Amino acid sequence: MSKKIVIALGGNAFGDTPKEQLEAVKKTARPIVDLIEAGNQVILTHGNGPQVGMINTALGKAAEIDDKIPDIDFPECGAMSQGYIGFHLQSAVREELRNRNMGKSVASIITQVIVDKNDKAFENPTKPVGIFYTKEEAEKIEKEKGYIMAEDSGRGYRRVVPSPMPEKIVEAEIIKDLVEKEHVLITVGGGGIPVIENGNQLQGIPAVIDKDFASERLAELLEADYLIILTGVEKVAVNFGKPDQKWLDEISVSEAEQYIKEGHFAPGSMLPKVEAAIKFIKSNPDKKALITSLEKAKDGINGLTGTVITGK
Ligand code: ADP
Ligand code: MG
Repeated sequence: MSKKIVIALGGNAFGDTPKEQLEAVKKTARPIVDLIEAGNQVILTHGNGPQVGMINTALGKAAEIDDKIPDIDFPECGAMSQGYIGFHLQSAVREELRNRNMGKSVASIITQVIVDKNDKAFENPTKPVGIFYTKEEAEKIEKEKGYIMAEDSGRGYRRVVPSPMPEKIVEAEIIKDLVEKEHVLITVGGGGIPVIENGNQLQGIPAVIDKDFASERLAELLEADYLIILTGVEKVAVNFGKPDQKWLDEISVSEAEQYIKEGHFAPGSMLPKVEAAIKFIKSNPDKKALITSLEKAKDGINGLTGTVITGK
């Protein structure tokens, strides 16, 4: 039976360079189009960590060596990454659809996501972005630009930005209309461009919204049947990477919450996925949330693999 499925694509769907990405999206498109071919309605979202890092680093370096090249701040880099990833992904999905004689249209929506300016995340920026600097350079940048700089895992100093929660998708009505018409959409790329509301004005801010949480917001908005988070592993594990590691097939919300308490999921990687899945199921216990790998998407939706989080 036809389902409405929000699919969140992780870093492994894209590779690190334009050339790699062009190759990777061809593979990424296949399981996506499998699901469309089976009669499902698919809405795509994606991460942008490496890509926005690449854009931000390239522009930062260029501005450093040439006075005439302007500084380009993080919201603009995020918007560029939505365009860059969307371009390759929509073209690959379109081609795969055409290869199977399906005439559907595919487009990426530059998406803004409203965050609360009083979000606690603003008090403690944690997400490292862009290029590495020495301690001295970092101190100079803090003074000159007012950025917050922090040491990153012994590799040098980087700018850190907050990671607030998504509140509202600005382009919601447009997305709903286009989904209604059964077009294939790519949206909330990189978690969306974070904006705060100043009256009628939306102001882009240097922050990073987790794509797993933004995808969950989208799935709720669209009343999707499924939230599928595709990542580098086929299943979620407890005791991940340890000798007593155990892969999970199906877990209830309360089991998932217990595992979170016990610290089984790495913050910034698996934790937001499990939290997003829980949030989606709590919004409506009849929905399904699935975490699996890109390669196993089709098997996952057919109940053959992956980790399912249920309200039961
Ligand atoms: P994405 O780019 O898809 O968001 P991340 O690297 O952020 O991917 O997160 C997925 C990764 O989290 C997995 O590939 C795995 O290496 C790691 N991980 C951390 N904890 C767990 C766990 N408990 N079970 C499975 N994978 C885990
Ligand atoms: Mg991630």
